[in-house]
Amino acid sequence: MPGSIRLFVTAQLAAGVEIAATAGQAHYLGTVMRRTVGETVGLFNGRDGEWAARLVTLRRGEASFVVDCILRPQAAEPDVWLIFALLKRDATDLVIQKATELGVAALWPVLTARTNAQRVNLARFHAIAIEAAEQSERLAVPVIHEPRPLSALLQAWPAGRRLFAAAERASAPPIVPTTEPAALLVGPEGGFTPAELDAVRGHPLVTLVSLGPRILRAETAAIAGLARLQGAGWG
Ligand code: SAH
Repeated sequence: MPGSIRLFVTAQLAAGVEIAATAGQAHYLGTVMRRTVGETVGLFNGRDGEWAARLVTLRRGEASFVVDCILRPQAAEPDVWLIFALLKRDATDLVIQKATELGVAALWPVLTARTNAQRVNLARFHAIAIEAAEQSERLAVPVIHEPRPLSALLQAWPAGRRLFAAAERASAPPIVPTTEPAALLVGPEGGFTPAELDAVRGHPLVTLVSLGPRILRAETAAIAGLARLQGAGWG
């Protein structure tokens, strides 16, 4: 159903199941999109594929669906994570939206020496990711982790996942596509400190990579790096 409304739900999806919409979804369907009872929308939950569902109630702040038939089975998505130093609010929002469109499985905000520690609203991050997943026809929403120090993340890094660390001015080889479990690390606006770069470089699963001769803003580096990591297998 190209262009039709797709909504993320947490409930199990199976034929005949009735699902209540959130208040936000009810507002979106009724007030923003002017849908009416009897119309069909797509639902996905990250586990059961995408299903056609009929809108069976729609009142102020309230809506529900009855699940009809499956449209697309759940399919594997790129096994790539984005590790990014927290940026200012608008730039962070952009990174979450674009990384979701580009298919990341997980987003890990990190704190570095040149990151201004700040309070983050994970619920807001999650809402941005849900909207981007709905819009980009993904079947899953990335996991968004609590921010943590870069050093802690490196210490707990899982075996079997390469970490491509984007480093400007480091004469690193260009980033190349992969189909293996991978992660991209992007630093803050002020860049990594020399000590951080040494710690990153010294990690056995890290490969320093270049994104070209120009110095990109962190949000551009995240988007460009993810696009270039995408191999044929992630198509
Ligand atoms: N202020 C720093 C630049 C930081 S750019 C300076 O002037 O040197 C923010 C982040 O984007 C960097 O930490 C790095 O992870 C990434 N980045 C930007 N341009 C890059 C490039 N050409 N190659 C690799 N990484 C890059």
